[in-house]
Amino acid sequence: MNISQARRFLGMCDRILVITGAGISSESGIPTFRGAGERWRDRHVSELATPAAFEEDPRLIWDWYSYRREIVARSEPNAAHIALANWAKGRTGVTLVTQNVDGLHERAGHPEVAHIHGSLWHNRCTECDKEREDLALLYPELPRSPCCGALERPAIVWFGERLPAKTREQALAAAMDAEAIVTIGTSGKVATAASLVRIGKLRHAEIFDVNPEHSCIEANSRFAGLAGEIIPQLLAA
Ligand SMILES: [Zn+2]
Repeated sequence: MNISQARRFLGMCDRILVITGAGISSESGIPTFRGAGERWRDRHVSELATPAAFEEDPRLIWDWYSYRREIVARSEPNAAHIALANWAKGRTGVTLVTQNVDGLHERAGHPEVAHIHGSLWHNRCTECDKEREDLALLYPELPRSPCCGALERPAIVWFGERLPAKTREQALAAAMDAEAIVTIGTSGKVATAASLVRIGKLRHAEIFDVNPEHSCIEANSRFAGLAGEIIPQLLAA
């Protein structure tokens, strides 16, 4: 389908799953922090985003997340976040699943967002796993939970950790049920996105992929280009 056919098709669907990845946020200037070659303070990102690294040096890991919060706090949602939010607000049956932890969908006014990799703006109690929102940019002292007075960790899904069960179930249900799936800025290398698409495809959902680079998403229609340019055309409110 071309873009106007796709827009008409999506306009007729009752149940749509939208999956967003790092590509939509990189257009707001946010680095992915998941790539194998990426480093911070001379360490590989893959060595920092692990439960073992946090256990060993919580100060270092919180400093890294403070650095990331500051980058996001200085950034703004882009035209893709905004067009998607406005489109979703005007209809029912849209599920947004994001791999991004930055919260830019919420800042664009998106009504409901399922964070499969957690959120940069949530802390989790290391004692009882309760989460709370916290918008602090810096922690002169390591954050402690109001529930148990225990050390808090970033509420992020680190390497080797399981996805949050509730969010995972919600995403699976949406994939099983979707008439269409729109993937935006995801390489398809993240297993979750690829498997949600595969499930949707088996159930005969139409798959649309928006990506400036070639992705391994098994799409029926591909729109090559920046999300900030394509999404406002594809998802006209
Ligand atoms: Zn607690």
